[in-house]
Amino acid sequence: MTETTEKKENISPVWNYHPDLPLESVPYWRWPLSPLAILKWLYENFLSFTDRLLYIIYAIVVALWIMPFTSAEASLSWDWALLILLRNYIAVLVIVGGLHIWFYGIDGQGNLLRYDNRPIDKRGVKRFKFGYQTWDNMFYTLASGVPIATLWEIGMRYAFADGLIPTFSFADHPVWFLLLFPLLTMWQGIHFYFIHRLLHWPPLYKHIHSVHHRNVNTGPWSGLSMHPLEHIIYFSQLLIFFVLPAHPMHILFILHWQLLGAPSSHSGYEAVFAKDKSRLVIGSFFHHLHHHYFECNYGNPEFPLDKWFGTFHDGSERMTVITKERTSQMHRNRQ
Ligand SMILES: [Zn+2]
Ligand SMILES: [Zn+2]
Repeated sequence: MTETTEKKENISPVWNYHPDLPLESVPYWRWPLSPLAILKWLYENFLSFTDRLLYIIYAIVVALWIMPFTSAEASLSWDWALLILLRNYIAVLVIVGGLHIWFYGIDGQGNLLRYDNRPIDKRGVKRFKFGYQTWDNMFYTLASGVPIATLWEIGMRYAFADGLIPTFSFADHPVWFLLLFPLLTMWQGIHFYFIHRLLHWPPLYKHIHSVHHRNVNTGPWSGLSMHPLEHIIYFSQLLIFFVLPAHPMHILFILHWQLLGAPSSHSGYEAVFAKDKSRLVIGSFFHHLHHHYFECNYGNPEFPLDKWFGTFHDGSERMTVITKERTSQMHRNRQ
């Protein structure tokens, strides 16, 4: 048997598309360290046309021109708070709505680069509000996700204006300034891993996290389809800025990496494909595996806590068997 056939036979047929499997660790965590592989990975993820790059550019534009953090924000007022809410609604409607229309409205690329080609637009599904996944997911995103993210942003601006958040500029430490972008995505992975494991604790799962997991096959609106308490906890990673000096660009980037990045990574597709080319990389097969098999991949691939705690699913059939066995063991332990 050749190596390729062996690899293929080790992969579940449930997938319409999947990236190269088994999923590998991000090069920061491969031994021996290869600086070249790390630079290539950073280039492909932070400087090529990915959703991540879009959110960095957006954070820069907002921090420098559209809505810079100002000392006037030391006094709370509806004037600026409502403008932030409006800006966040517009960003979510354009990005999340745009992705949904492309993938599921006008069917822009059919099932090309789609992970799981089962429909997400069936009507009359009882577990969803209004009997329809998209409307249900939009409801949780727009009625809770955007307002709560906005409250976090208002809180951060208020604290920043009050001098409670230590800061520095690009001119002070240019290299550290740039490094903070990838480091913050690692921090997001650490924070997400621990809060997410906590949310899988049965009492919290039953009342809070199950709202998100009603989406087995996900679309862009599923990313922020969460219980309001989960929204509050999810954005709490911003609290790091009370101890880690940063610029408003960093704060806005990591906020939008969650507010817009969760929806884009839940699109169910690896990338936007148009005119015979992959145009915008957005997907997270790593997290899609979490929606499919539940008790695995709680964090993100940039910080290997799943590997260290034995909950990493690399997409292979072997890991599916192990994950299912671990899940049954967890259920037995709870009885
Ligand atoms: Zn999810
Ligand atoms: Zn989960």
